[in-house]
Amino acid sequence: MRLRILSGLGALIAAAILTGCGSQPETAKMAGNKVDAVAKAKAERAAKIKRAAAVKANELGQIPVLMFHRIVPKPQTTDDRTPAQFRADLERLVKEDYVPISAAELVTGKIDIPAGKHPVVLTFDDSSPSQLTLNALGVPQKDTAVAILKEVAAKHPGWKPKATFYVTRDMFGRTVREEQAQALLWLKDNGFDIGNHTRDHLNLRGRSQKEVEEQIGTIGKQIQELSYIKPATIALPYGNQPNKKQWALRGKSYKHAGAFLAGYTPAQSPFSKAFDPAGIPRIKVMEKKGDCAQFCSEAWLDWLKKNPDMRYTSDGDVSTVAYPKFKAPSLRKAFAAWSLPY
Ligand SMILES: [Zn+2]
Repeated sequence: MRLRILSGLGALIAAAILTGCGSQPETAKMAGNKVDAVAKAKAERAAKIKRAAAVKANELGQIPVLMFHRIVPKPQTTDDRTPAQFRADLERLVKEDYVPISAAELVTGKIDIPAGKHPVVLTFDDSSPSQLTLNALGVPQKDTAVAILKEVAAKHPGWKPKATFYVTRDMFGRTVREEQAQALLWLKDNGFDIGNHTRDHLNLRGRSQKEVEEQIGTIGKQIQELSYIKPATIALPYGNQPNKKQWALRGKSYKHAGAFLAGYTPAQSPFSKAFDPAGIPRIKVMEKKGDCAQFCSEAWLDWLKKNPDMRYTSDGDVSTVAYPKFKAPSLRKAFAAWSLPY
């Protein structure tokens, strides 16, 4: 803001010098312009605050990161969803004003969604063909995750088909290098985010730093060679962190801005002090039954609906972090310059 005032003032001074003959002395004019610029900035900020308050913006609130695996007609485990269930999962999110952002956008705080909406992150693990299968012309096969995402988005203008795909060496069932490149480049070209899910999907807990770096680094390098993308995030197999959680974020050949776990709560806002980039929780997508009575997606979405004060609500301005003043102590210092308390 301060920069904008200075550059605005600079332009005004330059204009005054060019025109040369003002009826007022130059110094008085400059002072007047400065007062105008400050008043304008104040008015702009007041308008932003008013808009944030009108939608009850809460950008320090929680964000559900949903964890999907396969989308198949006949589920074999409780991790699988049928195409019909997946459509219903997405329709519920649309109805309750959720808008998808990618995992990379979450961890970097680029949450660019309309005012009053809530971000949700859709993540797909294990790079299975049920998520992405393309025909020879690059058209997704019906009932794959990407086909359903595009279908639901087409029905709801403004709702973008955004998701993060966590890739292992099983690259959507493709073994030929050119076909692997086609799959990854298709995701990139269609606005999807690609993340690291390690090469062999081993449990990283208890392994040496060298093994951890190899598991993460080799697949990261392969993704980069095939698609020219460096994954911004990793999803840890089985949700298990390595002995030192930082090993998942930094290695000789990779740098991740976030590492995702497998359970069991909504994630903290990246602007909150409670946010831990090395261990971001996700929520399994499942109805309220059995082990999922309390800690899977239906239960958490019900809870967030009943507790709107806990949920992230956007003010529609990607350059600010808007929140009720009461929550100020939770703001991460790194985002102080973006802060818009009301
Ligand atoms: Zn996995």
